[in-house]
Amino acid sequence: MMTVETLKLIGGALCLDFANSADYENGRVTQEYLHTYDDFLVWSQRVGVLSEEQVQHLRTVAQPERAAQVLEETLGLRDVIYRIFSAAVAGRTASRNDLEALNAAFTESVRWLRIVAADEGYAYLCGGSDDDLNRPLWSIVQTAAALLTSPELPLVRQCAADDCSYLFVDTSRNRSRRWCDMDDCGNRAKAKRHYRRTKQA
Ligand SMILES: [Zn+2]
Repeated sequence: MMTVETLKLIGGALCLDFANSADYENGRVTQEYLHTYDDFLVWSQRVGVLSEEQVQHLRTVAQPERAAQVLEETLGLRDVIYRIFSAAVAGRTASRNDLEALNAAFTESVRWLRIVAADEGYAYLCGGSDDDLNRPLWSIVQTAAALLTSPELPLVRQCAADDCSYLFVDTSRNRSRRWCDMDDCGNRAKAKRHYRRTKQA
């Protein structure tokens, strides 16, 4: 059984790893990995959105009631991001409601964007206020907006296993990646095919 500590981070984009923090079937969550606001903080540190100090700080300022509310909004937005990208994989445009929800969060996230000097030229930095429980969300929303509007969108795929909803960017050389993880879903599919063949024989 996977937990927020062992969850696979194979999305190739922050927003897709976020979408992969639950299992979905027909757009509904069948398995949740972010049970508490603290789980979201642990996840955020694992993916590098928050430093250990930032996590510690948010832990101390998170009032239980507010944290529960933020978690609920966070998961709602995650479902939106999942639906938008899985629709894109299926060649469909997202629903108006989902796009509106993402846009509302996107507008909020832009407040925290800064242009900073980088090694070569400049870069966007998604900052945030130290006490803002939504802080990790702004970077996630930024990457969702960037990927949705990038030429890489057609490279977003969903794992080919019937019982796996993982989304990922296919960066394989011949664009032929079918599984979230060859060692897991890929092998299971191979075993299934083998079983069917031997049964027929
Ligand atoms: Zn899979």
